[in-house]
Amino acid sequence: MTDPLPFGIVGFEMEIPPRVYVETWGCQMNLHQSEGIHGVLLRAGYTIVERMGDADVVLFNTCLVRQKAEEKVYGRIGAVHKLKDSRAILLGIGGCLSQVKGRRLLERFPAVDFVFGTSGHDSLPELINAARHGDDGLSVLSPPDREIDEIPHHRSRCNTAMITITEGCSNFCSYCIVPFARGPMRSRPPERIFSEIRQAVDAGHPEILLLGQNVDSYGFDRPEFGGFPELLERIAAIGPYRIRFTSSHPRDITPAVLEVIAAHPQICNHIHLACQSGSDRILASMNRGYTRKRFLETVHASRAIIPGINLTTDLIVGFPGETDDDFADSLRLLEEAQFGSVFVAAFSPRPGTRAATMPNPVPVDVRRRRLHQVLDLQRQIAIDANRALIGKSVDVLIEGTTKEGFSYGRCDDHRTVILNQHGTVGQLVTAVVSGATAAALKGTALASIAAGANAPKGTR
Ligand code: SF4
Repeated sequence: MTDPLPFGIVGFEMEIPPRVYVETWGCQMNLHQSEGIHGVLLRAGYTIVERMGDADVVLFNTCLVRQKAEEKVYGRIGAVHKLKDSRAILLGIGGCLSQVKGRRLLERFPAVDFVFGTSGHDSLPELINAARHGDDGLSVLSPPDREIDEIPHHRSRCNTAMITITEGCSNFCSYCIVPFARGPMRSRPPERIFSEIRQAVDAGHPEILLLGQNVDSYGFDRPEFGGFPELLERIAAIGPYRIRFTSSHPRDITPAVLEVIAAHPQICNHIHLACQSGSDRILASMNRGYTRKRFLETVHASRAIIPGINLTTDLIVGFPGETDDDFADSLRLLEEAQFGSVFVAAFSPRPGTRAATMPNPVPVDVRRRRLHQVLDLQRQIAIDANRALIGKSVDVLIEGTTKEGFSYGRCDDHRTVILNQHGTVGQLVTAVVSGATAAALKGTALASIAAGANAPKGTR
């Protein structure tokens, strides 16, 4: 780890530590990396502010997965450009967008002072310091296959401690930019994972969320270790109250993973298993590495081994060449798999990926129509599944408060529960499900909620 430069002393006069504002787009991995950016900057003496208007330095941690995310970043660069008319402010762009576009961002946007990538965040204090003292157009992009950063994380959530277990991805799904932006899959050494989890548990985080583009590939590059099943078992032994993970890959998840989930009540009854399509032809064109049959076998095995498991998924509609029949296969897959929720996206071509140059694009209006068809079908599936839980008792870990003043949280299987009264974040409440919509359950707390009663650690 590199020591930050002593930004506080210039010409024997103390400078006021810069105030930094960090804005984050994209996946949980990016959210977690922003926790690392906060941690590194706080350690170096910087102040983190909540509003861009209060900052001396603005950092954007960006996403490139969809066109919309990219355009939003460009819009926000424009906002900083305007701010620069009235006062001195530095702008740095990091994350997937800058890892792929690099110095082209500096050439295209004069408001951008420096770019940094998806790793190497421990050197940010030096980078900011150099930019503050006049160095123009700095670009620090680490090789995307560099070892996973070991940096302090300033955790943004009370309940959930996000912990990286793998970085990058070697799958090269034909629509996805991640392998180009984040490099090949690397597994973090298990002892470092265990040590970070012990610290998070000791700090009072009841829930651990293991992060990786494909968590099931954990250990493919560490043959001496027993892979994701062993990792889960050993994390359960450390004793966090709840253990979650995302995302699983339908090609790589094994019966051994399902057995470990079933054997450890601390590991939550939820798997996010991205199907992406229900058509074998489209799955092959996406380079997903499994068939519809294999995917459904995994769904049925999950339900047989882990009773009550909630499966959620991602689905792309309007992939190049997707016919009405292919799309009908996707709808049938949703009906058969009965997911608790579906993140559906209309295909958005990403320059640099194979899918971006594939023939037979699906017209935009067809993509939009298919997206709404999926939403309508899934709404009905989710309502039916949620209503079937009415009268059952669930344990809810409170995460926040609705606009109407009621507490909400998640139960073990990741469903959101809105409670009929107010408690505090981190409390564990047993509730009876009294109502349901497609998006959430309503719960009546069995006992009145006692403020400050945090979820017990390591017990179940
Ligand atoms: S598994 Fe496929 S979709 Fe997921 S990150 Fe890797 S390449 Fe992208």
